[in-house]
Amino acid sequence: MTAKIIDGKEIAQQIRSELATEIQNLKTRGIVPGLGVILVGEDPASRSYVTAKEKACHEIGIYSNDNRLPATTTQAELLALIAAMNADPKINGILVQLPLPKHLNESEVLLAINPDKDVDGFHPLNVGRMVVGEKAFLPCTPHGVLQMMARSGVKIEGAHAVIVGRSNIVGKPLANLLMAKGKMANATVTVCHTRTKDIGHYTRQADIVIAAAGRPNTVTADMIKDGAVVIDVGVNRIEDSSKKAGFRLVGDVDFEACKQKASLITPVPGGVGPMTITMLLYNTVESAKRANGV
Ligand code: NAP
Repeated sequence: MTAKIIDGKEIAQQIRSELATEIQNLKTRGIVPGLGVILVGEDPASRSYVTAKEKACHEIGIYSNDNRLPATTTQAELLALIAAMNADPKINGILVQLPLPKHLNESEVLLAINPDKDVDGFHPLNVGRMVVGEKAFLPCTPHGVLQMMARSGVKIEGAHAVIVGRSNIVGKPLANLLMAKGKMANATVTVCHTRTKDIGHYTRQADIVIAAAGRPNTVTADMIKDGAVVIDVGVNRIEDSSKKAGFRLVGDVDFEACKQKASLITPVPGGVGPMTITMLLYNTVESAKRANGV
């Protein structure tokens, strides 16, 4: 079997054009969704993520308030900027690009964001709401994974989904969303991590394998069953002197080999990545609608 490739760029584009139409309608009612973006420091990967997010906002008509702060920014300065954004009615969503420089207290920063503007879905209140099945901003990468599966016709209900990785931003929320009662959910979920004995024992039973470990070749062809759906969240830089940047991006899955066995598979780049940014835009529009009682 050769897998069909799930084109994350194309699905992301579909959702973005749906959002652009929605934003145009909102603008006729005087509502302009706004995203406040904060980047502290010079980390090149973070800089490129933030630039991509700002560009995506401009393309679909979201106002973005961009703030590039030096690596020497203090906790008090960062909290003051967040407080100003919390109070600014033009800003419906606040994005603090992580990781922050080591001298800054990340959990205090996330707690300072008004949960109603927490479009990354990282505030504990939104995490809690998500876990108990209440209305919440869903974290962007897990939500993007669900959307791309749903829009590719993957049957999640009743499926056995095995996730490799248990981080707070990908593995854990994804496990919660997949096991929830409801649409795009009702799966049976297994979560693997570095202390799991024999990950392949679990992934070979999976209808859906989701790799979010941050390590190339974490999922190889011998670890999946024929016809499995394989979603690769991982983004890893591999040295490559033939590339201008000196590196290329690969996922956590041995793509070429797994493609021969899976029914559906996501590439890296061009898979989950574009969906993550898109769901940030989605949450920002949702937040603007809620703030204006739409
Ligand atoms: P993270 O915080 O480093 O967590 C990685 C998780 O994977 C941990 O739970 C870790 O287990 C587990 N793990 C690591 N190596 C493993 C191995 N060899 N076998 C089994 N489990 C292993 O990473 P993250 O933030 O979740 O991100 C994961 C990957 O997704 C990264 O490559 C990241 O760049 C990428 N990512 C992509 C997007 C996107 O939009 N495409 C968004 C977010 C993240 P322990 O808990 O036991 O340490």
